[in-house]
Amino acid sequence: MILILEPNTDPESDTYRQLMRFLDQLPDIQSRTHRVVGAEQVLTEIYLIGNTSALSIEEMSTLPTVERVVRISEEYRIIGRHHDNERSLEFTYKGVTFSQHELHVFAGLCAVDTPEHVETMMQALQEHGQVCTRMGVYKPRTSPYAFQGHGKSCLPYVFELAGKYGIRVIAMEVTHENHVREIHEALEQTGHPTGVMLQIGTRNTQNFELLKAVGRQTEMPVLLKRGFGITLEESLNAAEYLASEGNSRIVFGLRGMKTNMGDPHRNFVDFAHVPVVKRLSRLPVCIDPSHSVGSRDRAPDRLLDVMHVTAQGVIAGANMVLVDFHPAPEKALVDGPQALRLDELAPFLQDVQVAREAYLKRVALMREYTADP
Ligand code: PEP
Ligand code: MN
Repeated sequence: MILILEPNTDPESDTYRQLMRFLDQLPDIQSRTHRVVGAEQVLTEIYLIGNTSALSIEEMSTLPTVERVVRISEEYRIIGRHHDNERSLEFTYKGVTFSQHELHVFAGLCAVDTPEHVETMMQALQEHGQVCTRMGVYKPRTSPYAFQGHGKSCLPYVFELAGKYGIRVIAMEVTHENHVREIHEALEQTGHPTGVMLQIGTRNTQNFELLKAVGRQTEMPVLLKRGFGITLEESLNAAEYLASEGNSRIVFGLRGMKTNMGDPHRNFVDFAHVPVVKRLSRLPVCIDPSHSVGSRDRAPDRLLDVMHVTAQGVIAGANMVLVDFHPAPEKALVDGPQALRLDELAPFLQDVQVAREAYLKRVALMREYTADP
């Protein structure tokens, strides 16, 4: 059961204390408080765990500061949608709002290689009005002999260049909790010229200790990629791990599934699950067309496969696109064969816009035919 408190409820207020005293004396019930800090208000939700079937919604609704009560199923207590379609899990980070209604493109390098490439990439993004990017510095590689990323040594110049070119959020993978500390320290050291969305990759979706560590910090939001060989339910539970530790500023990423059924793409594109994740959870949904497709192959209509699948995800309502670009893909140290070139940035962004407008038209059309839920 969730108690949704009145917006901006002060945890120091008498009414809040009264509520907590009441909850503390309920037998076999534990409560966990969860605060969602939005741009305009702070929402407090109290999750009651245990024998909640004995509690009545009517009675709980009359408690001080309680605005609404929602009875939830066992699954995805925090990230889940339950029977309440309205509650939002949106968040604003560095002035960029993430929700199931927005759309942001994170185009950038799969891996940071040289300062020149980082700068050229960021300059191109700024020229195209972009304020987000992706840049990996800790790379989980299949071979131990492959380039593992420059690690913390490159963070200061990456952050400084981001600041110089107005980049507000960088999606950056972490594979160990030490990386979170290193990123935090480098942001401090450089005076926070930008922000980082911590990415948990598909190989770590069920690395529960990493999930707990990243969930315990609330400074940076998290992009959690779906595990490539596990069920959607298992991946959503991984997102719930983050939220249950305190960080519900999560974007859920689809990046294709590992099976040769999807050949000749690197992974079997799963963007049909965009609306499914939006139905099962309240999280914004990201698509990663680059790691799904894995090549620069082009269809006879001249559109790259990466562009085709991006449009498929966006027209289905995706809220974020993570996509590999590189100023010189042939020189990239990781995933060069799937990186788009900078002269493809403009058509890519325009194509995303075409698909986005089509999605909004589809929603408006269907609204005319269906009553509000
Ligand atoms: C990446 O985004 O660079 C990456 C390694 O992604 P994934 O975890 O989806 O393979
Ligand atoms: Mn990659």
